[in-house]
Amino acid sequence: MARVVLDDLMKSYGNFHAVNHVSLTVEDGEFVALVGPSGCGKTTTLNLVAGLLPITSGDITIGDQVVNDLDPKDRDIAMVFQNYALYPQKSVYKNLAFPLQMRKLPRDEIDRKVKEAARVLDMTHLLERKPRELSGGQQQRVALGRALVRDPAVFLMDEPLSNLDAKLRVQMRSELKRFHHDLQATIIYVTHDQLEAVTMADKMAVMNGGNLQQYDSPAQVFAHP
Ligand code: ADP
Ligand code: ADP
Repeated sequence: MARVVLDDLMKSYGNFHAVNHVSLTVEDGEFVALVGPSGCGKTTTLNLVAGLLPITSGDITIGDQVVNDLDPKDRDIAMVFQNYALYPQKSVYKNLAFPLQMRKLPRDEIDRKVKEAARVLDMTHLLERKPRELSGGQQQRVALGRALVRDPAVFLMDEPLSNLDAKLRVQMRSELKRFHHDLQATIIYVTHDQLEAVTMADKMAVMNGGNLQQYDSPAQVFAHP
């Protein structure tokens, strides 16, 4: 686990500042929701932390490491996307094992991590299935599991529930909350859904036009909008 510090972070496209002088600290174990209207810079900010985009200026620190110039694979993070990005031909077991095989972990350690992730996410009974044999919520859990097996310091999630129907979204909200609580995970979570932010997050980072407008608990954000 680790804290994440953004210090005067900038991402510019010519004269346009998609992320404009953003500074904030996500404490170890905090669940922070990045919220704001479409185009305000949420996904760009998350992608900068992930290393999927080069920063224009400023600093990003994860744990005690300044990661500005590090490749995504060398950052102690795992991403969870809205479109799951599962391997359709592979079983759930192999979907979970794959990132660990890439890291050349011994087979018994992979097996232990996969089964532990399956236990945490209550999908031990699904390990032999293919993604198409799963519901949307189950597929999202596999995507979460694939991040979890990597045991990252920080989870980065980009609207992970937005493809689910309303009922599943409510269910997954409480599952994600439990996930955060049980693992004491540091999570940065992009959403345009205020309700998701309020029900799950310790803090809301409210962005507008690339600027960080507010950074406070949901209660404070709604008391002083
Ligand atoms: P959000 O996630 O809040 O909807 P984004 O972070 O995706 O917003 O985008 C922030 C702004 O940056 C948007 O106005 C978007 O059009 C702009 N943007 C994103 N990528 C590029 C790019 N490659 N070139 C120019 N503008 C971009
Ligand atoms: P392939 O058919 O693609 O060559 P395998 O079927 O041999 O792959 O499976 C790859 C590895 O994953 C093997 O070590 C296999 O035992 C393991 N594996 C697959 N499913 C499970 C499971 N549910 N529990 C334990 N190990 C599993």
